[in-house]
Amino acid sequence: MQASGAEIHSALISRVTARFRERFGAAPEVVAVAPGRANIIGEHTDYNGGFVLPFAVDRAVAVALARTPGRGFALESLDFSDELTGDLPASQAPLPIRRDWAGYVAGILNELAVGGHALEGFRGVVAGEVPIGSGLSSSAAFEVAVVSALDLAFGLGLPPWDKVRLCQATENHWFGVRSGLMDQFASVFGQPGAALFLDNTTLAWRAIPLQVPDLEWLVLDSGVPRTLAASGYNTRRGECERAVGLLNQVRHPIRLLSEIRPDQLGAALGLLPDVESRRARHVVEENARVLAAVGALVVGDACWLGSLLDESHRSLRDAYEVSLPELDFLAETARALEGVVGVRLMGAGFGGSMIVAARAGAVERVIPALVEPYRQRFGRVVGGFRVAPSRGAYTLRP
Ligand code: ADP
Ligand code: MG
Repeated sequence: MQASGAEIHSALISRVTARFRERFGAAPEVVAVAPGRANIIGEHTDYNGGFVLPFAVDRAVAVALARTPGRGFALESLDFSDELTGDLPASQAPLPIRRDWAGYVAGILNELAVGGHALEGFRGVVAGEVPIGSGLSSSAAFEVAVVSALDLAFGLGLPPWDKVRLCQATENHWFGVRSGLMDQFASVFGQPGAALFLDNTTLAWRAIPLQVPDLEWLVLDSGVPRTLAASGYNTRRGECERAVGLLNQVRHPIRLLSEIRPDQLGAALGLLPDVESRRARHVVEENARVLAAVGALVVGDACWLGSLLDESHRSLRDAYEVSLPELDFLAETARALEGVVGVRLMGAGFGGSMIVAARAGAVERVIPALVEPYRQRFGRVVGGFRVAPSRGAYTLRP
């Protein structure tokens, strides 16, 4: 299955434009749509300068927006039944950051002000269909949609990579989440029917057609709240930085763990304490798995691809230590089902989602087969849905 044009988002676009008309008595000037993302493989590699292989999914966030005179702005969130109002920030006087959806908007406006981009007042409505907090990066979709709408409405002319960086900076500087570039990159650059291979050191990327016959993608939501995800994520980043620092004290002049070549890994690991050594091993081996996964996709080998996903999960469990018993149980149980070729946790870990690669026809059976054993073992509800590789962010003038 593959999804291409705006038609897959028509209900969402209608929702934000209809609400805009109702609320403000006029049509919006622009609508921006930005998707969430799944990641086939390459986890916790982006901030280590490594490789990732995400795709934009067929679920998005949409913003309908129009300029208004003056410096006031108003943005209504349909999903949070809330409205953010205020005056645009000056570069020396940033807006305060609320720790909720409105904080991302304030962060974006602050970043634009710091970057010297001249905005005027605006009003808008935002709504989304990317599940929040379940590992499809609704936050990136939301940020990219808001930035894309502002970009078109005010003629900012932001190049695609500037949008990616601005959204990342919003999370890094204003939210204190030290996320890498992958989520915003996939939301901006997504292509229908393709995964995106990205080298996070050089930022070189290319689309890899997902043309393995009969292969479909399912995202499982473990239902485990990711309460530890943000702190665990920042801890892992710190451990990787410590590993780099320790290696540099000895003899490896590197900036990021991904600069360690596979043939140098054994020697490098021997120089590190246990924890740092396991983190470094995951990063270097995961990068190799991403390259192998590209090879598996190019030759259309679903079994090879699936075994790489399984290995990735084991490495995230044992070496990177970001899994949980719930995620391991789901991985093992799903993997044993007929037609499932590979399963791994996706995203930061410590709860959240898993990605499942399965043969067409098997996908429908996965969640029904997991519900009862998962409930019995953990008392939790597993959910999920199919995702299709889809286009990246786009804008319309309705
Ligand atoms: P995720 O894994 O989904 O990115 P995060 O906690 O990083 O989880 O981001 C979720 C946050 O992104 C939400 O709590 C909200 O602040 C913002 N967000 C996502 N989707 C929307 C939306 N449709 N409308 C408003 N805010 C949104
Ligand atoms: Mg997020």
